[in-house]
Amino acid sequence: MASDKQPVTPEELQAALAHSRHESEELRAELEETNRGVLALYAELDSQADQLREATELKSRFLAYMSHEFRTPINSIRSITRLLLDRVDGPLTPEQEKQVSFIQQNATEFAEMVDDLLDLAKVEAGRVEISPAWFEMVDLFSALRGMFKPVLTNPDVHLVFEEPHDVPTLYTDDRKLSQILRNFISNALKFTPRGEVRVAARFEGDERVTFSVSDSGIGIAPEFHQSIFEDFSQVQSPLQKRLRGTGLGLSLSRKLAQLLGGSVTLHSEPGKGSTFSVTIPVRMEGAPPP
Ligand code: ADP
Repeated sequence: MASDKQPVTPEELQAALAHSRHESEELRAELEETNRGVLALYAELDSQADQLREATELKSRFLAYMSHEFRTPINSIRSITRLLLDRVDGPLTPEQEKQVSFIQQNATEFAEMVDDLLDLAKVEAGRVEISPAWFEMVDLFSALRGMFKPVLTNPDVHLVFEEPHDVPTLYTDDRKLSQILRNFISNALKFTPRGEVRVAARFEGDERVTFSVSDSGIGIAPEFHQSIFEDFSQVQSPLQKRLRGTGLGLSLSRKLAQLLGGSVTLHSEPGKGSTFSVTIPVRMEGAPPP
């Protein structure tokens, strides 16, 4: 469409040209300035990211060293208490037995805490190696059953492993998967005064498999469903006060599930119970023929 305001004389044309040249100069100067601002912002972001990376690295290294150094003294405390309780150095009075058992129980809790910290530090530093291999679900369940048998001290709680149906042979890191399930099961047993803890596996049909640990325990209020997966997070309850724990297990489980290419979910209702699930690919990338 033609404009009504066409320059008519050469002077007017000259003036219009000079004006638009001036405008484009101004625009270029403005753009250059913006560009410099963006570059400065990028540099600042880069340096902040470096600082953050360094801080995370330092934290992970500190956690790794510290937890590693703690292991030796804790293990010697545990060995000595075992010797004392086995009466290797002579008899104990009932009161002495109670006290030594208390030391043993605390040393065990401390050792578990140190193990969790070390694992978390390794995951955060990207130093956890995933070693996938072919294995059968039933073998994993029977290993877990064997592991938990000695710790099932509450006669009011039954631990049930459902027979897995239609779950194909898996190609994943079975030790990491076992670590996630062990954590879910030991939590379920801790927070279920009576009833049942049920472990099951379900093939999702889209090359994914879900393992679930359901309990009929105290349950978790909805406002905590996200936060309990964060480091050091716990829900206060009368049971919690007695059990303590580290608040690291679920955070570690979530990170391990992500390393296996999967995720964790929680369904829970206070007073009714909880179901913690982990869904992972049946076969991790690069699976050779079984
Ligand atoms: P820890 O068990 O060492 O405290 P976790 O990270 O494994 O640490 O669990 C965090 C918290 O989540 C627990 O302290 C508890 O408050 C809550 N929780 C976990 N599992 C259950 C469960 N099955 N039933 C009720 N509460 C649970």
